[in-house]
Amino acid sequence: MKTFNYHSAKDVKEASKLASSNSAFLAGGMTTIPSMKLGLASYKDIIDIKRIKKLSGIKVSGKTVTIGATTKHSEVASSKDIKKAIPSLAALAEGIGDPQVRNRGTIGGSIANNDPAADYPSACIALNATIHTNNRSIDAEKFFRGMFETCLKSTEVIEAIEFSIPEKSSYQKLPNPASRYAIIGVYVAKHKTGINVGVTGAKSCVYNDKDLAGALTKNFSSSAIDGVKISSSEMNSDIHASSDYRANMVKAFAKKAVDAC
Ligand SMILES: Cc1cc2nc3c(=O)[nH]c(=O)nc-3n(C[C@H](O)[C@H](O)[C@H](O)COP(=O)(O)OP(=O)(O)OC[C@H]3O[C@@H](n4cnc5c(N)ncnc54)[C@H](O)[C@@H]3O)c2cc1C
Repeated sequence: MKTFNYHSAKDVKEASKLASSNSAFLAGGMTTIPSMKLGLASYKDIIDIKRIKKLSGIKVSGKTVTIGATTKHSEVASSKDIKKAIPSLAALAEGIGDPQVRNRGTIGGSIANNDPAADYPSACIALNATIHTNNRSIDAEKFFRGMFETCLKSTEVIEAIEFSIPEKSSYQKLPNPASRYAIIGVYVAKHKTGINVGVTGAKSCVYNDKDLAGALTKNFSSSAIDGVKISSSEMNSDIHASSDYRANMVKAFAKKAVDAC
């Protein structure tokens, strides 16, 4: 591991001021630290944001659930308020990695990293999330740009993620048996304003499957999905699953999610 300067920021303003194109924020460290140890990433400055109280916590209002960026997966999984308002979101958090990862990893770190197989990005898409940073509020559909890429600037700190509470929802995934990352994950959410189908693990970046959402808008039942053709042309292919297999699994897990709603 290369040497770096460690800073513990006292507030968001200081964290943002210390940041540059050669720095990383340290939230759970579950991606940053292994990447540095393996020599895949190096930074001049590591800015610890764990001590900034404002960044952690869960608030439920009538229509939304707002989760602070450094809130850990285990806190989301065990939150009575989230279990009541959006049970599928608590279940998603419970299915991330293992207890060690859930007790360190944070929601802000997960979406900032935008791993193509991460779980939370699909929740952001399905639950019409707004990502609040120290500078602006960003719709989830605009936030996720590509593989490990978001629209965040290097000095921008995610403060909280605000999810709309749906009428019904379910997240179903085919987990990698070792890491639990999604080989395929499908998050179906039915809102008063429409239906979203957030898909992760399938392509280089999370997406809202408009064909599936369209079919479910006409008829919210798993049989409505039978007639939807899912193309494998842009799907990932690796040692775990071919692109054709992934395309089939998107359909199978979308049906499973609708049945579980
Ligand atoms: C063994 C293992 C298994 C895992 N399994 C899964 C799984 O099944 N599903 C899944 O979804 N994930 C999984 N993960 C990922 C994990 O859950 C974390 O969410 C992820 O590693 C990043 O979160 P973190 O808090 O550790 O971020 P860090 O590693 O601290 O930071 C990651 C990146 O996010 C940036 N960042 C962090 N916080 C902010 C912020 N507030 N504002 C702006 N930028 C920020 C940092 O600059 C850095 O670039 C796994 C990880 C490991 C190591």
